[in-house]
Amino acid sequence: MAAATSAYDALLAHCRETFLLGSTSALLSWDQETYMPKGAGDVRSQQLALLAKLAHERATDPRVGEWLATCEAERGHAADSDHAANVRGLRRDYERATKLPSKLVTELAETESKAQQHWAEARARSNFRRFQPWLERMVALQQQKADCLKKPGQSRWDALADLYEPGMNAADLRTLFAPLRQRLVGLRQRLARGKTPDESFARVEIEEPKQEAFVRAVVTAMGFDFARGRIDRSAHPFCTGTGGDVRLTTRFHKDNVQDALGSTMHEGGHGLYEQGLEPQHLGTPLGEAVSLGIHESQSRLWENHVGRSAAFWQWCWPIAQQHLGAACTGHTPESVSCASNVVQPSLIRVEADEATYDLHVMIRFEIEQALIDGDLGVGNLPDRWNALYREYLGVAVPDDKHGCLQDVHWSCGLFGYFPTYTLGNLYAAQFAAAADKALGGLGPLLAAGQFATLREWLRRHVHVHGRRYTPAELCQRVTGTPLSSEPFLAYLDQKLSAVYGL
Ligand code: ZN
Repeated sequence: MAAATSAYDALLAHCRETFLLGSTSALLSWDQETYMPKGAGDVRSQQLALLAKLAHERATDPRVGEWLATCEAERGHAADSDHAANVRGLRRDYERATKLPSKLVTELAETESKAQQHWAEARARSNFRRFQPWLERMVALQQQKADCLKKPGQSRWDALADLYEPGMNAADLRTLFAPLRQRLVGLRQRLARGKTPDESFARVEIEEPKQEAFVRAVVTAMGFDFARGRIDRSAHPFCTGTGGDVRLTTRFHKDNVQDALGSTMHEGGHGLYEQGLEPQHLGTPLGEAVSLGIHESQSRLWENHVGRSAAFWQWCWPIAQQHLGAACTGHTPESVSCASNVVQPSLIRVEADEATYDLHVMIRFEIEQALIDGDLGVGNLPDRWNALYREYLGVAVPDDKHGCLQDVHWSCGLFGYFPTYTLGNLYAAQFAAAADKALGGLGPLLAAGQFATLREWLRRHVHVHGRRYTPAELCQRVTGTPLSSEPFLAYLDQKLSAVYGL
């Protein structure tokens, strides 16, 4: 018994130090996207590469395997105990790390960094052919990676997707996506018969400092703890949680305060999840987010279920007036909440509305499976992309920049990642419906600005568990049912019918 206890302690101590290395590189990456001077790029990539190498060495240390074996032999720990959950999580991490040869890890890291630069250039010139050789190399490396990770019965794509959403596979996603697609298309056709809301608030010009003061007031009211976090700016907003120190970024456009608000509430939702993890579990699986899909559910819940609701705008309106001043003249909380819910098929995923967003994700899901399984040559990607945009969204892609070059993911080696965005939307709706039921209606709480009640509910039911349960188990525990697209469709139908006067 004594030996097993010390193996567990040694394992956790080792894991906590590895976490410190990882959180140090996360902070360096945050700095790279925010304040780092241009000329520091070379030394920064060397710093990050060294930390990645050290972290991989620690993660594959043979002592980890020995400690794990000792801990696993110990009996008497309930499946959801701290001990069992940490050992299970660390076993998963260890298996994954040791399956990848360090040569492949290094080659991937180098290619990702270079491919990303070539992607940025190709995108700026709207020329896919410049990126093609790099994507071909990246796909080949991802196929190798998948072959190393693949378990019996898994496809290559499944093996990659499991890195981001434990337990996710293509067959389950197809079952979830096919009816969802049909019903979203049906919803859009129905809305076309309604009255399109006035969007003019979204285009009012407002100086940046006013927008900034406004979004800070909102994220403060959400309960983001500035003593353990910051908000800065970056071209593409993101959130980095480095344990007790959560860095959010947002962005401002002179004529789109809705974008700044949506981006800040989105990243703020990610930030609340990171700040809601239990501090005593920091650096262990119990102190980590369970999956990207669940992470995205927290951001989409605050961005959409809160930030695009009529109730939220009732509370928010005096705050908007205080910070945005004359820009609010001629608008009302009702008109502004309607303006944030206009549905319009478009070319760019990150700017898509809630009713068309998931169609963008489904297109990428189809394409990347075909690329990884070898059914689609990289050279044919633009044609396939453009054809699917016509089929799913009815829009014509004018050039590669607005088409297959818009997302950074594939250049960074993120294959199997996109569906977590849609899972996030579905989880968010299911969690919001459960919270609505448990708290006696979210509307009155949001209208009164009582965000703490919702935040604490999410913390108790989702955040504090870290990786104790799988995403599927967590969903079942929080909502009483497995993941389904019904709550999402019901939510959209109800909200958008009101917005479109149907
Ligand atoms: Zn997100």
